[in-house]
Amino acid sequence: MYMASDLHIHTDASDGMLAPQMIVDMAIQAGLSHIAITDHDTIDGIQAIYQGDNKDYHGLTVIPGIEFSTDMPQREIHILGYYIDIKNPILRKQLQVLHVNRRDRARKMVLKVAALGYDIHYDEVLAVAGEKSTIGRPHIARVLVEKNYFPSISSVFDVLLEQNRPGYVPHYKLSVAQIITLIHQANGIPVLAHPGLIADDSVVLDMIHSGVQGLEVYHPSHTKSQTKEYLNLAEKYHLAITGGSDFHATPDRFPEKLGIFTIPDELVLNLQRLSMIGRGGCF
Ligand SMILES: [Zn+2]
Ligand SMILES: [Zn+2]
Repeated sequence: MYMASDLHIHTDASDGMLAPQMIVDMAIQAGLSHIAITDHDTIDGIQAIYQGDNKDYHGLTVIPGIEFSTDMPQREIHILGYYIDIKNPILRKQLQVLHVNRRDRARKMVLKVAALGYDIHYDEVLAVAGEKSTIGRPHIARVLVEKNYFPSISSVFDVLLEQNRPGYVPHYKLSVAQIITLIHQANGIPVLAHPGLIADDSVVLDMIHSGVQGLEVYHPSHTKSQTKEYLNLAEKYHLAITGGSDFHATPDRFPEKLGIFTIPDELVLNLQRLSMIGRGGCF
């Protein structure tokens, strides 16, 4: 039987709409065999799911993941980390630093947007994000949509929050090398996320040479020809092939449901094998 997996999912611990347990329930219902929770700069979603060392839920395996962002000139690069050890103290300390800086950045963006004449306050953004979650631009966008300034989250990004738009503030970022090192320190596998969104093949090649071990070949934003191109690149450079829905449960961003955009299990098993080699384990 064909078994399907999804290695790119956000919960409300970052900018997704649904609680981690809801994601698990939906994944079981969709008949998925593996999912990876890949919240931005946080492992809180995974921690909420894991009870003790149990990582298996009615046949569904939940893989610990994360998604880091960094800026190259004019480009935002996302790097996924898979099979990370969420107890690793170096990782936890770095996430705490990122957390403090993210809040600071959100506060600055709200001030910029308010200065443009929009009625928005940091408290409102915080209320949308929730006390614990990784605050980000989508939360600011949600407040502006709720106040009927914009029809959709993506339109807020287009007008105000994308790089080079008037509400944008660059985030405190780790360099590509720091992110890759950090993922390795936590025994994880660094994977370049959605290379198609980088839209510059030379940057993608630079990233491959900087030490990522996998390429997110399958992503809802990729065209068929991009998928083919990245599949070839992954094979050429002996990279693990990954993919996922980038599920946020927001209506205008990527698939609305789990189980629509999946990858074959075989790819997950390859990734798992790679993580065990990294740990020196036998299989
Ligand atoms: Zn991303
Ligand atoms: Zn993502």
